Amino acid sequence: MTIPEQIIAKIEAYQTIIIHRHVNPDPDAIGSQVGLAEVLRNSYPDKTIYQVGSDTGNLAWLANVQEIDPATYQDALVIVTDTANAPRISGETFNLGAALIKIDHHPNDDPYGDLNWVLPDASSTSEIIIDIVNNSDGRLQFNQAAARVLYAGIVGDTGRFMFNSTSPHTMACAAQMMTFDIHHDKLNQKMNEITLEQAKLQGYLFDQLQVNAQQVAYLVVDRATQARLHVDPQQVHSIVGTPGRLKGVLTWVIFVQQADDTYRVHFRSKGPIINELAKHHDGGGHPLASGAKAADQAEIDVIIAELSTLAAQYTE
Ligand code: AMP
Repeated sequence: MTIPEQIIAKIEAYQTIIIHRHVNPDPDAIGSQVGLAEVLRNSYPDKTIYQVGSDTGNLAWLANVQEIDPATYQDALVIVTDTANAPRISGETFNLGAALIKIDHHPNDDPYGDLNWVLPDASSTSEIIIDIVNNSDGRLQFNQAAARVLYAGIVGDTGRFMFNSTSPHTMACAAQMMTFDIHHDKLNQKMNEITLEQAKLQGYLFDQLQVNAQQVAYLVVDRATQARLHVDPQQVHSIVGTPGRLKGVLTWVIFVQQADDTYRVHFRSKGPIINELAKHHDGGGHPLASGAKAADQAEIDVIIAELSTLAAQYTE
């Protein structure tokens, strides 16, 4: 049996299925989690399917989570989507189930599942879920609710079909989801929406962004700035892709100070591979989009220096 066939066999063997995803969810985390949950509800109406984890925050308009009793995990199958390593799984109860499946598109550094279906070349975990459904011999079926969030997941993780992970197959998957009357125009408008405060933060970014001789751009958004601009660390995420629009920027990093004064670090790149660097700073992610942590200004300086070395060594 192929791994997707084994996954479907497991799904069919369990009455209760609980689906987790990563902390700080983005549209692909929610799309793959809730898309799979909706597919399973639609395909197996007699099973009980839960989607759990932290609140979906400013993506609550896309989908919500359910709260469940830890006792629910007894004899349940747990599936985790879009989450590279166990510490990033949202919901510490994830390992209370009878079996654990990982479905993901990040490099498989931590194969925490009993079954692991990990395809780092896929644009998104939503695309992987779509393929599992399409290769299920009709046992799994999409509906409108599933298609809507799966489409959003693909749009989110491909930067609206802009990143190099976007393949002809990715486009075919998105096109298939569009046949389910998902109002893709409204969905795209909503995903593109920013608050006035976030727009002012964009202004701050263009004003304060530093670009060095190695074509590395960097910005620190400290707590005082967040307070002055009335944005929280999660909302700052909306500017992470923006420096890439600037001519002459090859790779960039944004440091967002957290409530405990440490920094979340967002790396992006147009060429140099940055996920190994992210791993040295308690992080990881994709070759061209990674996250990490910095304890203080000294670690910020080290990260900028290391990124500059990477950029200087890069040849196309
Ligand atoms: P972000 O900059 O938060 O949008 O994250 C970019 C990519 O890196 C996403 O695929 C994340 O899942 C991954 N990522 C972010 N932070 C971490 C971390 N601390 N450890 C491992 N992967 C991370």
